Amino acid sequence: MRASRFFISTLKEAPSDAEIVSHKLMMRAGMIKRIGSGIYTYMPLGLRVIRKVEAIIREEMNKAGGIELLMPLVQPAELWQETGRWDKMGPELLRLKDRHGRDFALQPTSEEVVTDVVRTEVKSYRQLPLNFYHIQTKFRDERRPRFGLMRGREFTMKDAYSFDRDVAGMQESYQTMFDAYVKIFNRFGLKFRAVAADNGAIGGTGSHEFHVIASTGEDALVYCPSSDYAANMEAAEALPLIASRGAATQTLTKTSTPNTTKCEQVAKLLGLELSQTVKSIALTVENEVDGKLTKENWLLLLRGDHELNEVKVSKVPGLKDFRFATEAEILEAYGSVPGYLGPIAAKQPVKVVADRTVANMADFVCGANEAEYHFTGANWGRDLPEPVVADLRNVVEGDASPDGKGVLAIERGIEVGHVFQLGTAYSAAMNCVYLDEKGQPAPMQMGCYGIGVTRILGAAIEQNFDDKGIVWPDAIAPFEIVLCPMGYDRSELVKAETDRLYAELQAAGVDVIVDDRGLRPGAMFADWELVGVPHRVVIGERGLKEGNLEYQGRRDPEASAVPAADMVAFVK
Ligand code: ATP
Ligand code: MG
Ligand code: MG
Ligand code: MG
Repeated sequence: MRASRFFISTLKEAPSDAEIVSHKLMMRAGMIKRIGSGIYTYMPLGLRVIRKVEAIIREEMNKAGGIELLMPLVQPAELWQETGRWDKMGPELLRLKDRHGRDFALQPTSEEVVTDVVRTEVKSYRQLPLNFYHIQTKFRDERRPRFGLMRGREFTMKDAYSFDRDVAGMQESYQTMFDAYVKIFNRFGLKFRAVAADNGAIGGTGSHEFHVIASTGEDALVYCPSSDYAANMEAAEALPLIASRGAATQTLTKTSTPNTTKCEQVAKLLGLELSQTVKSIALTVENEVDGKLTKENWLLLLRGDHELNEVKVSKVPGLKDFRFATEAEILEAYGSVPGYLGPIAAKQPVKVVADRTVANMADFVCGANEAEYHFTGANWGRDLPEPVVADLRNVVEGDASPDGKGVLAIERGIEVGHVFQLGTAYSAAMNCVYLDEKGQPAPMQMGCYGIGVTRILGAAIEQNFDDKGIVWPDAIAPFEIVLCPMGYDRSELVKAETDRLYAELQAAGVDVIVDDRGLRPGAMFADWELVGVPHRVVIGERGLKEGNLEYQGRRDPEASAVPAADMVAFVK
């Protein structure tokens, strides 16, 4: 590329709305141009980086068995209504109507459309597994679009979707994607960490986020330097709260389930009649099993704004004495009001006694000590394994790691990728089934896997910059090397050497730009340092007379002389 025929437009000052380094530098380097809140034109320099990011992703996705297709940006509302997300997504989903008054959504992600493709195209177990992906524009009407490409409203995502016959197959597909992500982020040349994550609104059973490590990151990551333990703060705080038994099946879910539901569930199972809305049920259950008296304290807690009220108790066979504890009693007995359901160690037993066996209870929704969050699939009962009760809320540096293998450290990260095990959440809702070996229909097991293509530009810069500008990793730099001739128009010697080197580098497959704009050296160097091209070669008469060129890596404190004849081999 010749700079004179390319488009470079740099600024001395960043616009005042740019708050963080990556946004400022991308604006100053002329990589993006804002046309509205969270909406940008990718300028030629920025687009080159995006294309390189996409190329690496595409290559690794193909290697990992991904099959590329391209699903539409504009998607019919009917598909989104099938899964309930038309309502659930709220204002983040941008909706529009066509001339006939039909409803459409701009895709924020593509589970519905890909599931529709597969349910109509795939019939037999022989066609599975499958993994479809695309690299496509997304639109999310973010409440606070900010930080340039980091949290845009329109952005580019690679999203992949796996379809398997069974859970084991889905887990294998998930692992394959996880491994591909590790390769992708290594190839970008970025320092990153994969952390266990909460599944959020999307639902499902397991998930990891990939974070680029940067002090300016929006998310806090918790990890143990002496083991594999790593989680985002949300998950680190939530997972140890798995206090009910049978923890493996329990997931933290963002939900608007009214708190009373739990109480009603419990009451029904205990055969109680609730006269009013209650906040919690605390009781000690005494049981005589084989002549041995066992005693368990149970706290069935419901968070909310409800008052704790007296409750009429009836229909409990053999009940000796039973009432609901007051909040003060709960605090006195348990020290805090934890948001879980199940047996806990009380400082002193709450004086409530029942003499009936409490059966194992499955699939509860219960509090998670987090506003708008609940655990689903919680189980409790005496026959289940001991619960994990380690309160790691407000995790701080130096806390013991939940795996017992060391202490925790905290760092900040930017979420650039996210992989999910979806299970049958979408396939069941949309009747995406296949016929198994016996000809029986079964819902497909799904996974979904996203990478924030455009966010990666911002994340890479947050991790790699200095006071002169961006320092791109080689793999995703807009150009790998810039040739800066001193007097391209004035010196035959300089021009001839520049043209020779340019042609040789191109022939060697190096992505090279020659700055033939005729700028003064200071302005020329400042531009390329701002733009962040990782390698620079200066071609000047003085050096050439000794057969030398000047090489400087973007992070090198000064330039060094390299024989002109060796330069191609040197930079390769
Ligand atoms: P965030 O927590 O930052 O809002 P998310 O969890 O909502 O992201 P996912 O649904 O997991 O995002 O989407 C997959 C990936 O898409 C994210 O890991 C992120 O890299 C990228 N992404 C999500 N929202 C945006 C956005 N508004 N602008 C740019 N990239 C985004
Ligand atoms: Mg989001
Ligand atoms: Mg997120
Ligand atoms: Mg996410």
